[in-house]
Amino acid sequence: MHKGIAASRGIGIGSVCVIKEHDLSFEKKKIEDTAAEKERFNKALEEFKAETTAMAEDIRKRIGPKEAEILEGHLVMASDPSMSGEMLKMIDAGQCAEAAVEAVCDMFIGMFSQMDDEMMKQRASDISDIKISLLKLLLGIKDIDISKVPKGTVLACKDLTPSMTSQINKGNVSGIITEVGGKTSHSAILARALEIPAVLSVPDITSLVKDKDTAIIDGTEGIVYINPEGDVLSQYIIKREDFIRKQSELKGFLGKETLTADGDCVELFCNIGTPKDAKKALECDGEGIGLFRSEFLFMDSNHQPSEEEQFVAYKEAAQTMGGKPVIIRTLDVGGDKDIPYLNIKKEENPFLGYRAVRYCLGNKDSYNLQLRAIVRASAFGKVKIMLPLVTCVDELRAVKEMIADIKKDFDANGIAYDKDIEVGCMIETPAASLIADILAKEADFFSIGTNDLTQYTMSVDRGNADVAYLYSTFQPSVLRSIKHITECGRKEGIPVGMCGEAAADPLMIPLLISFGLTEFSVNPVLVLTARCIISKWSKAEADELADKVMRLTTEAEIVAALKEASKE
Ligand code: PEP
Ligand code: MG
Repeated sequence: MHKGIAASRGIGIGSVCVIKEHDLSFEKKKIEDTAAEKERFNKALEEFKAETTAMAEDIRKRIGPKEAEILEGHLVMASDPSMSGEMLKMIDAGQCAEAAVEAVCDMFIGMFSQMDDEMMKQRASDISDIKISLLKLLLGIKDIDISKVPKGTVLACKDLTPSMTSQINKGNVSGIITEVGGKTSHSAILARALEIPAVLSVPDITSLVKDKDTAIIDGTEGIVYINPEGDVLSQYIIKREDFIRKQSELKGFLGKETLTADGDCVELFCNIGTPKDAKKALECDGEGIGLFRSEFLFMDSNHQPSEEEQFVAYKEAAQTMGGKPVIIRTLDVGGDKDIPYLNIKKEENPFLGYRAVRYCLGNKDSYNLQLRAIVRASAFGKVKIMLPLVTCVDELRAVKEMIADIKKDFDANGIAYDKDIEVGCMIETPAASLIADILAKEADFFSIGTNDLTQYTMSVDRGNADVAYLYSTFQPSVLRSIKHITECGRKEGIPVGMCGEAAADPLMIPLLISFGLTEFSVNPVLVLTARCIISKWSKAEADELADKVMRLTTEAEIVAALKEASKE
């Protein structure tokens, strides 16, 4: 068994075709006729551009515009005078075209790969692709034609370049294994877009396998088997069938409302960290944003974002969602989330310290900028404000007062905003849970943050492995808290959602239906899975299960009972 990075979900089984790296070595000769050499280089560059344009067009048609952008990026980079111009200069100085391509590309690769930013690192791999393509054209090397591989082929290669991908016939390639690349590399993006299972960064795989070996690729777990023994193959054939069945079942939920088995409608929203993610939420069929973690805006910047910078980001999310709700959580900093330039002093007990709404209310000038930015963005969609780590009603009142003052200022200055903008609380502390009846009278909505609610209810640091065995949302104490919160919200007639990870947990969903949760907010990729599971439970069935589970006394018994009743 070989382990790698799980880059594209699913199980692929097939016969290996190893794509060996070409020998791109060349003789570094001194050039006398530099004009002829420049012509040879320009011809190769033009050929590269023509081939890349054709491949981008093909990818655009067969896979999608986002994926074609990768190759279009190659075109832009290769056409950039700072790249081709440098190469021509070196040829003028007597270097051969191959040496010029290699030296200039290596210089850019070295520069980009040293940068911390993932995007910049990816650029290094783009330039490496360009270098290889140009060298092959100059050396007259032809790639093996991947479009001709037979059905049931597993490709094993060092890296899957976009140019290789453009030749892949989805019906014939059942899996991809590479030696390099991570979850966000182009190979991963393209494999996912083609829905071909892929495991990347498997060390030395192209030397460990040979043509016609049988390979199993578990792209969900990041595992590869070569010539599997015993009953591994038959087990994976069953797993593959199961995966395919589930995927086609999920596709049937695309574009549908989120309904329980009784036909009762609930809202299925997404958790996001940046305004760009709103697009992803829509692509994944999310019905709104249940949690926009605004601290990412602060973390991605080296300074505190101004009112205007924040407004632009919140407005983008609101406009992208086109009138669907966007719940923006105000800055949740402190605890495990450090933002260096805010210079928050180190504390003995950061999870119990000066964080989230406490920090914001202690820094009202900065907080005011954020609230103003959100209220302004409310003119461009259905924006709501949500407060993190509330522990007493005074905090909610203080923020509502600040918002009332902002509204007065906007009215006086003719600044547009949604006069009915809602203000809700995250319920993620035992204190908030215990006074949920009080908070429900003054909040417009609740969203249960089970990640923190579990941490604080169980007195377990959510990042501490030694006590992780206690960190479970299925502990009776946490379940009672969730039930209590939903009841308090229901009594006051306010919507109660959940944006902690538990909202997408297939075992938790029936309990949430029984408790009366009205909104589930999940990672965009889990929207269809959650919708599918919600559709399987009627209120009566969920109530019966909840009734049984809420009488159990240990987490282990509860999980076992939920697993037994699972409809996955
Ligand atoms: C939570 O605590 O459940 C939550 C959604 O917030 P975060 O994970 O950002 O603390
Ligand atoms: Mg939280």
